[in-house]
Amino acid sequence: MAKNNRIPKIRGAKRSSREVIKNQKEFDKSCNYKVEWRYGTKWNQQKTAKYRYMACRECGSMTVASPAATAITCSSCVQKMVDPPVFKSSIAKTGRPAGWHFMKEYVDKDGNVFHKGVEKPELKGTLKPTVIEKKKRLTKREKAKIKQEANSKIYDLKKQLKKAKFKKDQRVINRQIKYYQRISAGRIPKNYLENNSE
Ligand SMILES: [Zn+2]
Repeated sequence: MAKNNRIPKIRGAKRSSREVIKNQKEFDKSCNYKVEWRYGTKWNQQKTAKYRYMACRECGSMTVASPAATAITCSSCVQKMVDPPVFKSSIAKTGRPAGWHFMKEYVDKDGNVFHKGVEKPELKGTLKPTVIEKKKRLTKREKAKIKQEANSKIYDLKKQLKKAKFKKDQRVINRQIKYYQRISAGRIPKNYLENNSE
């Protein structure tokens, strides 16, 4: 069977409004912006092919344009014109923190009470909304400081270990050394700052 690549006609469809350009040179001249044909230089262009460049209507920088374009706005001007995309987080959607339905008890801002994600209508309004403390992320410098502290602790503990005579003392020290070795390797426990802040 012969292949039919023709686009099926859709009844009532508009005809393409784009005119076929018969004389590209004339067409380029008729454009209100500077047009140049340049050999490809970019990674996604062919070096032997010529590409149509047109001055950006905003800043005038030469930008790749399709052969039929009459005016063009470069990407950096578009970026200046539009707001950055908004990323909706799950917090924005429900107003509830991540993992709220795993919490033993969670009270939303309207006073709805949930026990492990299941609403308890009879408790509505009887409890204060749950306050979620924002997790504090450690900066690089803080991390480095904690690691350094851990290393000096390990050093001290190893000295203690040499002096320790009893097995049970050695065991305690060894456990502590292991704890600080984890930290020294970059695995800092979540509650480290709470437990070690002066
Ligand atoms: Zn521009």
